[in-house]
Amino acid sequence: MSRRITSLLAIAAVCVAVAPAPASAQAPKKEPIDCSQVKCIALTFDDGPGKYAGTLLDTLKKYDAKATFFLEGQYVKSRPSYVKRMAAEGHELGNHSYSHPDFTKSEAGTIKSEIQKTQDAVKKAAGVEPKLLRPPYGLADLQVSDIAAEFGMPMILWTAGSQDWSSKNVKAIQKQTLAVAKPNGIILMHDWVKQTVDGMPSLIKTLKNKGYHLVTVSDVIKSQNLEPGDIFPVPEGWEK
Ligand SMILES: [Zn+2]
Repeated sequence: MSRRITSLLAIAAVCVAVAPAPASAQAPKKEPIDCSQVKCIALTFDDGPGKYAGTLLDTLKKYDAKATFFLEGQYVKSRPSYVKRMAAEGHELGNHSYSHPDFTKSEAGTIKSEIQKTQDAVKKAAGVEPKLLRPPYGLADLQVSDIAAEFGMPMILWTAGSQDWSSKNVKAIQKQTLAVAKPNGIILMHDWVKQTVDGMPSLIKTLKNKGYHLVTVSDVIKSQNLEPGDIFPVPEGWEK
């Protein structure tokens, strides 16, 4: 963006800011967050809904934070009420297979059925269908990419991990997450790790103090204009 356009936009923003609020009895509609303008981060929780999803949802609600859940179909089936709540409370739902096989070692038919069964389970539980795919272990190849494209979904990995599944320690999870946090980062976490959920109130407060808006993956990838079958972030060695 040129300097001139930037300054025009700045002027426009000031004008908007000083314009009187329109007289209306309705509550002001919340503007969508523009992650190209403000500091955003997307916390993502894999393999769930996990045992502690309810507590996590309470915390996210309390701090008005949004997250993305890459759900495993088998647990969607066993814990559908959490999935319904996730959708109702404005979180994003993604597909993380039905039973977590390595897609790069699976037959096409298996991959398709793993994805479809999870789409169906989420639809049944929450009335919505995931629009993003996170392949198990973050592993994909061209076959997986083609199948993701058939389902109309880009594949979303992560910019960094919290290492929560390996440390299982509240302080270590917070320290690691803050060390790798960056604008438009996508952080890998798990809602089946109790220490992740226990440490979430303080982690959210710290991230907010650092100026982050906690948003969904779709918010942070908006500017990437991903097509179905695309992968983001592009892993090292990935060729189109
Ligand atoms: Zn997983």
